[in-house]
Amino acid sequence: MVEQLVAWLRIPSISADPERAADVRRSAEFLADAARGAGFPRAEVWETGGHPAVFAERIEDPSLPTVLVYAHHDVQPVDPLSEWTSPPFEPVIVGDELRARGAVDDKQNVCMHLQAVRAHLAVGGRTPVNLRLLVEGEEESGSPHFDDLLRSHRAELAADVAVISDTGMLGPEAPALTIGLRGLVYWEVAVSGPAHDLHSGLYGGTVANPVLGMAALLAGLHGADGRVTVAGFYDAVREPGPEERAAIAAVPFDEPTFMGEAGSPAAVGEAGWTTYERRTVRPTLDACGIWGGYAGSGAKTIIPARCGAKLSARLVPDQDPDVIAELVRRHLLERAPAGLATSVAVLSRGRWVSAPTDHPVVQAAARAVAAVWGRRPSLVREGGSIPPVAAIAEELGLACVLFGVGLPDDRFHAPNERLRLEQLHRGVRAAVRLWDEVGALGPAVRQGANGRTA
Ligand SMILES: [Zn+2]
Repeated sequence: MVEQLVAWLRIPSISADPERAADVRRSAEFLADAARGAGFPRAEVWETGGHPAVFAERIEDPSLPTVLVYAHHDVQPVDPLSEWTSPPFEPVIVGDELRARGAVDDKQNVCMHLQAVRAHLAVGGRTPVNLRLLVEGEEESGSPHFDDLLRSHRAELAADVAVISDTGMLGPEAPALTIGLRGLVYWEVAVSGPAHDLHSGLYGGTVANPVLGMAALLAGLHGADGRVTVAGFYDAVREPGPEERAAIAAVPFDEPTFMGEAGSPAAVGEAGWTTYERRTVRPTLDACGIWGGYAGSGAKTIIPARCGAKLSARLVPDQDPDVIAELVRRHLLERAPAGLATSVAVLSRGRWVSAPTDHPVVQAAARAVAAVWGRRPSLVREGGSIPPVAAIAEELGLACVLFGVGLPDDRFHAPNERLRLEQLHRGVRAAVRLWDEVGALGPAVRQGANGRTA
């Protein structure tokens, strides 16, 4: 299992980098082969308008429950490369760690499912459920073709429930299942001034400076209390009641560890909320990048011609991504710096997800995890966003449980990403039990759709 995973991790399937398109395809083909080898009689590469996905199917007996498993095979870009202690696509095993880009996010979870099927077939010659595996190739770049993919293959993706494996747990001895995800909106802002860079001696003080204009625009997005200043931003937010805040407080979240892993000197955020609440049940607005002017060594005395920035928001129930996209766009344009041209484009948007805790598949997954970890998993809302989950819940009308084995300090999206082999092995055992649990539910597994989504 680990050898196969290492071979797969050598393929740099970075979906955001057009130069890696052939590698993303190679990753898909590798996975289709691996799925066939694991015991999926049907495994194929599905074309999309962008990078390919992989579909694999094992129909054991049409009368059994059918589960759709979602994961992704593309990975994040690797920069800054200089911060990696070993090359991102040359996996190394150090103690219990396997280090490589894509290790924890998300190839480990796919590997876990393949191994669980192998295990069932090796021991009993059959799987207790029918499985349809859909592994996307564009999750890390916003899943631009995923909704279309679901629509064009709706019949082949039919299932009773969905298991999403692109999330993690709270700690090695703090198992968790995710029952909620934040939504996401992403903008690109452009501020342009002179037709070309100008000499700051000849023109300084006479024309507006795009970098200063952008800086002022971004600085105005938050108040001193850490709250987003965009009018209407919080209007639809479903405030957690005392009961939910108590449940949140009971989640074993270790702030010093969290901050230590972040490597950031202090916890900062919206006033009136704990760090854990800020990253799960509160919405956020962040700058992800800014560029413009001279950034080389030494001095170059110019007034830059333009400045660009990327912004992202994380949304919670019941915020509507379309509404937030427009509110922020309008806010930025209304405050556009004088003497400059400002434009705002919405690059992507994804809905939040919130699943009912008492759904049979959530409870089945909780039993499977408890059997392996020796304690009941916490049912948590996650700070991240997985737009395809909302698409699966809405387009296919499926209840979703989010079961993945990454750990918070596995450096998702960061240099030196890793997985912990012990987590992977436990995950395989839990996945094996999960199919037993879901199989045992029989028709009771079909209990309506996945709560509310935006
Ligand atoms: Zn992921």
